[in-house]
Amino acid sequence: MCIFCDIIAGKIPGEIIYRNEWVAAFRDINPQAPTHILIVPLKHIASLDRLGPADQPLIAEMVAAANELAHREGIAEKGYRVAVNCGEWGGQVVPHLHLHLLGGRPLSGSIG
Ligand code: 5GP
Ligand code: ZN
Repeated sequence: MCIFCDIIAGKIPGEIIYRNEWVAAFRDINPQAPTHILIVPLKHIASLDRLGPADQPLIAEMVAAANELAHREGIAEKGYRVAVNCGEWGGQVVPHLHLHLLGGRPLSGSIG
């Protein structure tokens, strides 16, 4: 369905660093920080804007995965950023909902 669906399906071996019943995570191919992980729902949802009411619990699962990964990566104490780009002007490139987990260096103060 999309490149992230292919990654979730295991078509690129060894990519997945976290998986549960609802979400998976893998490292960004073009990292913007020492830790840059993408957390995605297993279900193909095109963007945050396409998140239907029944899918809203997925966001909590994605955030929980991001927090757990931040601890595993050792970036939780210093602090990290979780971000979602939505749609063209929001800077979204891959049309499969994802959280960016960024950390391991001081991040600039402002969004955008
Ligand atoms: P967006 O701009 O849609 O919020 O972020 C998409 C992210 O996916 C970008 O940071 C980009 O580097 C990453 N990305 C694009 N294609 C691939 C890929 O094939 N594998 C991985 N691991 N990351 C990708
Ligand atoms: Zn997809």
